[in-house]
Amino acid sequence: MSGDAAGAVRDVGVAVVGGGQAGLATAYFLRRRGLEPDSGFVVLDRGAAPGGAWRHVWRSVRLISPPAYTRLPGLPWPRDPAEPPDGPEVAAYLAEYERRMDLRVRRPVLVRRVRDDGPGGCRDTPLLVETDSGTWRARALVNATGTWDRPFVPAVPGRADFAGRQLHAADYHAPEEFAGRRVVVVGGGHSAVQILAELSRVAETVWVTRRPPEFRRGRPTEADLVAVTDAVAERVAQGLPLRSVVSYTGLSVTPDVRAAEERGVLRARPMFARVTPTGVAWDDGTSADADVLLWATGFRPVLGHLGPLRLRDPLGGVRMVGTRTAVDPRVHLVGYGPSASMISVHRAAAAAARELSARLAAA
Ligand SMILES: Cc1cc2nc3c(=O)[nH]c(=O)nc-3n(C[C@H](O)[C@H](O)[C@H](O)COP(=O)(O)OP(=O)(O)OC[C@H]3O[C@@H](n4cnc5c(N)ncnc54)[C@H](O)[C@@H]3O)c2cc1C
Repeated sequence: MSGDAAGAVRDVGVAVVGGGQAGLATAYFLRRRGLEPDSGFVVLDRGAAPGGAWRHVWRSVRLISPPAYTRLPGLPWPRDPAEPPDGPEVAAYLAEYERRMDLRVRRPVLVRRVRDDGPGGCRDTPLLVETDSGTWRARALVNATGTWDRPFVPAVPGRADFAGRQLHAADYHAPEEFAGRRVVVVGGGHSAVQILAELSRVAETVWVTRRPPEFRRGRPTEADLVAVTDAVAERVAQGLPLRSVVSYTGLSVTPDVRAAEERGVLRARPMFARVTPTGVAWDDGTSADADVLLWATGFRPVLGHLGPLRLRDPLGGVRMVGTRTAVDPRVHLVGYGPSASMISVHRAAAAAARELSARLAAA
């Protein structure tokens, strides 16, 4: 169900932008605190169907974090999670979640812009949430738009001149279409390694990373995961830009990754200096010819629609106090920084709902 016709303004307590796992977990806790869908809160999601980013991930993606503690509040996985769920299973789980919890997500609704309803900058007025299906006037906002819609490719000299195909991991589906091709895979994260592991079975691959990759042996414990979350939280509390997940966790060694290691395809070269029409070249005079450049170089938070609120810190990130933005008490970010995983989103969503319901009650 989408919103009303353009032009109508509807009042709501909390607007939740994004109906992936972060938006759903937040809506769940808002409901638990007595807010009703439509009047107390509304979830607006641009996707055509439930599942957030999990609807779009490439065929072989599976939950890499332990499924036993990677789930949303109030709903167990439908089957024994010993074998990690794949993308369609996670998307189906999220679809079932919003149905079961009766969260009444409105989609497809694209939020174009969020601004003050009144003089800008006083941080006390309601917010106008402008969408392609009308406008909501909200007393507070939870942004849960994830990162999938903002793939990042670094600026590298010569990139526009490459004669072959370039794609980001977000547009990668399966290895078959690259059979027999020469592919340079760029990136040192889990996505790069997973794609490389399967691609190298059918294609000739070169792996390039900015820093030497660090593999982590053994499964992370719950304490390890908490420590990572705390380290990221410390960074966002200072207003610093986010760093990649692997810079905290190291690379997990799944059976596919181990097999790729044994085949000798996980030897990383340092980042090249430039792209040429026929491949990539390093400053030491070496080069590699390529048909395809595959950028597994990560994503950035989707925050453009919040531009008018001027949340950005001079240090480059958004400074946070818990899930609340430090400069604007009306705005919370869930699924950002320390809560950008299914493991950690539970705690963040609960905290945001607690703070926001108290704010609405006090007004
Ligand atoms: C390949 C991959 C593997 C991962 N594996 C794991 C894992 O194993 N374990 C783990 O814990 N985490 C993992 N993650 C990280 C994280 O759990 C996922 O990225 C997850 O999808 C983030 O959920 P989210 O709700 O924050 O964002 P998303 O799932 O991206 O949902 C955001 C929603 O907001 C909507 N939206 C965006 N902009 C707007 C707008 N302007 N207006 C309206 N709606 C909008 C989108 O359509 C989307 O539905 C993985 C991520 C990726 C990419």
